[in-house]
Amino acid sequence: MRTNPLSFVNFLGGSPLNRLSWLRSSPGFVNAVLPSRTSRWIVFNQGQPLIASHPDTNRRSLALLPTADIQSLLGETPYFGQGQLPGSSAEPEGEGGKVPSVLEAARLRGLPVVFLGLLEPKHGAVASEQVAKEDVKASAEHGEPAPAQRSALPTSDFTDPERAIAQLADCTPYFTLDVADAEPGVLDEVLKNSALAKEGHALSFIEPRGAMSSLDPFTAGVFAEARSMMDWNTRNRFCPGCGSAVHSLWAGWKLSCTSLLPWADNTGKKPCPSGKGLHNFAHPRTDPVVIMLAVDETGEKILMGRNKKFPGKFYSALAGFIEPGEAFEDAVKREMWEEAGVRVWNVRYHSGQPWPYPANLMVGFYATADSAAPIRTDLDNELEDARWFTREEVRAVLAHPSGTNFTRRDYKQIADEVDPPVKDQQQSKEAASAHAIAPKDEEPPFRMPPMTAIAGVLIKHWADGGSVDGGRVSGYSTKGNL
Ligand SMILES: [Zn+2]
Repeated sequence: MRTNPLSFVNFLGGSPLNRLSWLRSSPGFVNAVLPSRTSRWIVFNQGQPLIASHPDTNRRSLALLPTADIQSLLGETPYFGQGQLPGSSAEPEGEGGKVPSVLEAARLRGLPVVFLGLLEPKHGAVASEQVAKEDVKASAEHGEPAPAQRSALPTSDFTDPERAIAQLADCTPYFTLDVADAEPGVLDEVLKNSALAKEGHALSFIEPRGAMSSLDPFTAGVFAEARSMMDWNTRNRFCPGCGSAVHSLWAGWKLSCTSLLPWADNTGKKPCPSGKGLHNFAHPRTDPVVIMLAVDETGEKILMGRNKKFPGKFYSALAGFIEPGEAFEDAVKREMWEEAGVRVWNVRYHSGQPWPYPANLMVGFYATADSAAPIRTDLDNELEDARWFTREEVRAVLAHPSGTNFTRRDYKQIADEVDPPVKDQQQSKEAASAHAIAPKDEEPPFRMPPMTAIAGVLIKHWADGGSVDGGRVSGYSTKGNL
């Protein structure tokens, strides 16, 4: 029985990258990192990641392209710290001779680019990727913190840009790029001439939820950061304060109003309110969502619900966005009442999971409820059904070969609810054929999410007899979660 749920590293979490947030504003650093031979790029096209299919096995994986492959898409130099005119650098000004803060590692022209972080190897750049993969995989299997993650927390000795650059040869920098606004011909050439294509890999942009099954634990962590960041960069084009265009700075980690640029002509305009103070719209959003299982007082039953948009027979933990003015515990209680008409108490944290569709943070809980009290789904009408399941029922479905299979077709059905339908004929064909060759064994009585979703983790942890009592009862340290 696992007694330390807080040590669990969920899929999409546990990225081993050192994000080096204090060096994002240094154009000297990010411009030096970018052309590194070891740099790798995650490429998106309107939120869809570039996926490589292996020529022999057809196995899919996230395409990680070297800088040499994508350089023709990046536009003029400098890539970061751009000045007013194409090809110019942001110049220091004023008495102190500092670059204005609205130009710190700014990218005023060109496709959106974000610096994600460095993989700091213990044994050299190329070997490190494999080491990190194995570390995270072992961690995911055993429910322990990833060693690579622990060692890569921002305690590294990158105290200044020069020193960091000197250590680059030992590191793998990660970047992400969105090519939606690239010239179609240029993009086609880039993909055709990439090292992966020359090795025979087929490259294509895939609906991201379906692509998740192609991610190993290492790339899943990097993908989660990349997708949320690129979504934020590409969908925020105008300043919420005054409606002017925004531009990127801090290597993709901040957006600023162009009315604040030193050369902006603001004649006749009111000063933009974003010119003073801190602004949450200038920095990337993270939207917290509580996701929870109510456990009855005997500990032998859990409450799951079926959302109207779920694929066939799926039941899962209830979930909902945290609203302004709520603590996690308040949101858990409110959502359980609104969706299932159930009062819960004794809310206990389990673990969290980044969910990059587009920028959610799933925060997982158990709570106690009375299974004899009536259930009602007519309050907010979000659920089609909600009911209590016994441990035996849940274990039987977990053991069933189709019990927790989330197919690409299922992901596509969910995605189509929130995104425009994907025009990917290859994918549609695969989905259709996957459906056609589905095992003909007896269907499970219901289905549940896989372990790549935190709901699947919460369900399985309880079904396996893991502690659902939370930190106060088990007495473990929350430090274990780092
Ligand atoms: Zn503005």
